[in-house]
Amino acid sequence: MTTLNEAFAAAGAAAWGGLPFSELAADMTAEAVEKAGALCPNPRTVLVAAFPYYAGERPGNLSLYARGMDYHQVVTGQLNTVCDFLREKYENGVFVSAADNSPLPERQAAWRCGVGLRGKNGLVILPPYGSYVFLGAILTDVELDLPPRTPSSECVGCGKCLAACPGGALGERGVAVERCLSDLTQRKGTLTAEQAELVKTHPLIWGCDTCQRVCPYNAHPALSPLHQFREELVDRLEAADLEGLTNRTFREKYGCRAFAWRGPAPLRRNLEWK
Ligand code: SF4
Ligand code: SF4
Repeated sequence: MTTLNEAFAAAGAAAWGGLPFSELAADMTAEAVEKAGALCPNPRTVLVAAFPYYAGERPGNLSLYARGMDYHQVVTGQLNTVCDFLREKYENGVFVSAADNSPLPERQAAWRCGVGLRGKNGLVILPPYGSYVFLGAILTDVELDLPPRTPSSECVGCGKCLAACPGGALGERGVAVERCLSDLTQRKGTLTAEQAELVKTHPLIWGCDTCQRVCPYNAHPALSPLHQFREELVDRLEAADLEGLTNRTFREKYGCRAFAWRGPAPLRRNLEWK
């Protein structure tokens, strides 16, 4: 590999971009900026990349994103190969990779770099993969020479996601997490009666997918090139799969899955409600 473009392609990224950290900081709270500085002192550049995860149409009761290997681990691992490439070029540089587990606002970074479209459902849409992409970022103290960028365009704005959202969570200001099933199905604490009703009437026990299912960009999504998201999938969980598992044995069985991070309690509760 001789270029950053080749390094991202070899890592399985379908698109990537980069921007000065100072620009992304405009989308961050002071606390998030401070945390980013703790990860990488004197941050100068953020790289952001999109990794497709669609594995085809398969019945199940888990959100499509949660069926393969945990994207936090997979995407961070793929990005670490890009970090290794960069470390060969910039021996004294600090390169930190993250995927949905850092203070960096990855969606805003993607939109600022023109990685995909800006969906009214609050997601990054990257044809031909639709919105079935994970984002990850690399933070570095090196001022990298970045490719030219144009901020993302808006999606076609058909409004299907807003109309279909079961919780009425989508609006012009983005997603109201208090009414978003993606968030509610993962909550450990007590839900309000209204929130519980939303979870009870939704077919999935983890996540939602509705605003993605109806989106025209997701009508015929291309498959993920990454085997970690296409093979050994867990499409469905039943109560029997969780029976008798302690927190420890649950983690031994499902710890490599994105639906495992809150432990078995929310999954058991949601299954009971079906
Ligand atoms: S994930 Fe579900 S509940 Fe959340 S915004 Fe999308 S359609 Fe609405
Ligand atoms: S469903 Fe329509 S409005 Fe919503 S994100 Fe997709 S294209 Fe945009």
